[in-house]
Amino acid sequence: MATTEQAVSQGSLQELAKRHLWMHFTRLGAYADHDVPIIVRGEGCHVWDEKGNRYFDGLSALFCVNIGHGRADVAQAGADQAKELEFFTNWSYAHPRAIELAARIAGLAPGDLNRVFFTSGGSEAVESAIKLSRQYHKLTGKPNKTKIVAREIAYHGTSLGALAATGITPLREPFEPLTPGGVHVPNTNLFRLAPGMLSESDLAEAVAHKIEFEGPDTVAAVIMEPVQNAGGCFTPPEGYWQRVREICTEYDVLLISDEVICSWGRLGHWFGAERYDYVPDLITTAKGITSAYAPMGALIASDRVAEPFLEGHSSFIHGFTFAGHPISCAVSMANIDVMENEGILENVKAHEGEFRAMLESLRDIPIVGDVRGAGYFHAIELVKDRGRPGASGRGSSGAPTAGETYAQFSDEESETLLRGFLSGELFKRGLICRADDRGDPVIQLSPPLIAGPEEFAEIESVLRPVLEEATERMGVGA
Ligand code: PLP
Repeated sequence: MATTEQAVSQGSLQELAKRHLWMHFTRLGAYADHDVPIIVRGEGCHVWDEKGNRYFDGLSALFCVNIGHGRADVAQAGADQAKELEFFTNWSYAHPRAIELAARIAGLAPGDLNRVFFTSGGSEAVESAIKLSRQYHKLTGKPNKTKIVAREIAYHGTSLGALAATGITPLREPFEPLTPGGVHVPNTNLFRLAPGMLSESDLAEAVAHKIEFEGPDTVAAVIMEPVQNAGGCFTPPEGYWQRVREICTEYDVLLISDEVICSWGRLGHWFGAERYDYVPDLITTAKGITSAYAPMGALIASDRVAEPFLEGHSSFIHGFTFAGHPISCAVSMANIDVMENEGILENVKAHEGEFRAMLESLRDIPIVGDVRGAGYFHAIELVKDRGRPGASGRGSSGAPTAGETYAQFSDEESETLLRGFLSGELFKRGLICRADDRGDPVIQLSPPLIAGPEEFAEIESVLRPVLEEATERMGVGA
């Protein structure tokens, strides 16, 4: 449309965004009297907006850009591939980049996870894992195994199947009824153990209890992230994954490790399962698989799970046109080259302690209740009162005192704190991170994996004064 071209050339991207662009998970009404943040360029750990303001990307553009922004070599790999073979599908056909990448991923994945089914993103990977689990059990003579056990407050994507696994009530409610079969157990929030959980070891046992309760013959799979994102980087207690693995094996339930965030170096390893020393039956991944230089996801299956699909007339009756797109495959190969050649995983291992120490140093600010996470994936939980008698929290290193917690903010206070102040203020001062209240209010930080002490100091230089001001505004510790 001529008017659009004119408007763009006249620099009214703001107007066009407000009139035409439907941003995801976004209160569009909030932009009636605010500018839409329009990011136009990136380099390393930083991005720039249309007005020339520079920001530290403390979220790797939604946990994605693991190798950092602005890599011309990775972009070039995509361009070169487009010239050679722009597209061919994985439906019955193969092409060299998909084959090479599948073999390379199989070489990096734990155990016998050797078979790679590409998707276009994370929700598609989770959707595929759920469908594969159901069909696997049908092929192996257990057709009633259809349910999926997931954890409360966990995010596994938005398509209706994946949403049945997602355990965040406000994300589910508008779309009820959901695909049947999603059931939930407590997550590993060690700061505030879920009601009924008297100790950390109860958390894994809750999975066995849920399978027994539902009926083992009806449960297809358990899906969990190595470190749960929503709620604020819940790490597993010692031995949790080993016990969950045992339970899944005992009940013939497939274990899906949802590593859409926790793979490709985010936790300092290729896959999060490696960090916690377990071998799942299926891994779902996306985001860092290309460092988001092109859209891609994947489902990685063990030989055991793939086997029934390799015989006779069997096939996994499922696919997506663009999955395994040659450009995305070429970009992913270039991304993995960068990770290997430039020691990206080693960088995370070498500096995650300093990252954590910087965040821990903020504990002197009264609103900071907990600091938790692993690798370059951390959260700060914000609390209303940590000094009140009877409001003692256990903290990530404290002794278990289930039922006692630091006083929490009400929903209204959380709204005032996060949307009324923190999100806008952090951005205004040049830090992109996530202020989230899908559980209790948290700030999440997940910087590009090339960051080091200098970048952590830059994060702190914004975070500290803003948290101090938030403490004052909310009357915390007053
Ligand atoms: N699973 C997990 C653990 C995620 O964090 C996400 C997205 O953040 C998804 C699934 C869905 O991925 P996508 O947004 O690429 O569909």
